Amino acid sequence: MTKFEALHNLKDEMEKDDSLPLKKDAGKLVFGSGNTEAKILAIGEGPGRTESVQGLPFVGQAGKLLDKLFILAGLDRKKVFITNIVHHRPPENRDPLPNEIEAYGKYLDQIINIIKPKMIITLGRFSMAKFLPDVFISGVHGKSFNVSWGDPLLGDVLKLIVVPMYHPAASLRNGKILEAEKEDFLRFKDLWSSLN
Ligand code: URA
Repeated sequence: MTKFEALHNLKDEMEKDDSLPLKKDAGKLVFGSGNTEAKILAIGEGPGRTESVQGLPFVGQAGKLLDKLFILAGLDRKKVFITNIVHHRPPENRDPLPNEIEAYGKYLDQIINIIKPKMIITLGRFSMAKFLPDVFISGVHGKSFNVSWGDPLLGDVLKLIVVPMYHPAASLRNGKILEAEKEDFLRFKDLWSSLN
């Protein structure tokens, strides 16, 4: 089975899963989109209003900024796969709760295991905490971390480069964060082009 087929099947399974805690009243499932053969996986927080109408990640205001950051860093969005920590929109765009992160995490783990990226760009603190639980984003944004990820008893252990970035929505609210985020993206230009 190709990665495309495996992701398609997983999306079908997720669509049918009525136990997902945010499903009711959330709008469309935002499974993820992009290149299923990507070497780089970007993980945001959760869909906003525009995303839950279109069923696609990062297509609203934060997504437009993310597109610009990708272009700045020479990264073609079409070569990346983009998903989120939770795949239904939290009410009023509130932060996802621990039980929600856990429920959607079972699917996110499978997405990671199917794509087997070399690098994960985390966007915001919730996706960062999945790989780097004991750090603050203000101290580590734009740095790279070697992370062994996965349970050897359950499957492959992936060797990942994890790069925590500020969430683009934070950059939209704060000019200083935006400047830092632009520098962070630029710093990875060479590494990203070698992975592309
Ligand atoms: N913010 C996110 O974290 N994810 C999206 O898909 C859109 C906005």
